[in-house]
Amino acid sequence: MHRSWLAGHLEILLPLATDWATEQEKRVLDEGVALSKEEIADAITAGVQGPERVHVLRVDAIPSPTHPILKAACDAMNFLPTAPRGLTLGYGIFIRSDYGEDRHLLAHELAHTAQYERLGGILPFLRSYIFQCAMIGYHEAPLEQEADDIAERICGLGSACASRADAGALASVSLR
Ligand SMILES: [Zn+2]
Repeated sequence: MHRSWLAGHLEILLPLATDWATEQEKRVLDEGVALSKEEIADAITAGVQGPERVHVLRVDAIPSPTHPILKAACDAMNFLPTAPRGLTLGYGIFIRSDYGEDRHLLAHELAHTAQYERLGGILPFLRSYIFQCAMIGYHEAPLEQEADDIAERICGLGSACASRADAGALASVSLR
């Protein structure tokens, strides 16, 4: 499976990825915690319209899909971090426990939530995100670069926490 294959089969992968992402978002909303006052302030700076809807679930390992087609797509696309620290699915944000207090990481993920809102929800976000990762690559994907820029702005330039290894939106969904 090749990047161009993925781009060409986006419409097959997309419903599977969206189902998975929707399930995972629900899990975070059910089991996670709402943002603190300080985190809400960062969410607003990141452009989130509904910061009170955001929940964060800290986990030992970021989940990834088990559906064979999604899994195959993930395995084939090894341009994403192998051990992501975060994953944002709409208003649900997974954060790996060992980065549980990393403001830069959360700011990056909140920027993705703002992108989901702006693009109109999980399916349209994933369409853009998978396409960008497939055609351009995870690190250069404009949605990733924007999230990095926003996190930098929130944490301040030159902050020690500037490296990126989240799962973006769906690192796990289709591409890792
Ligand atoms: Zn990201």
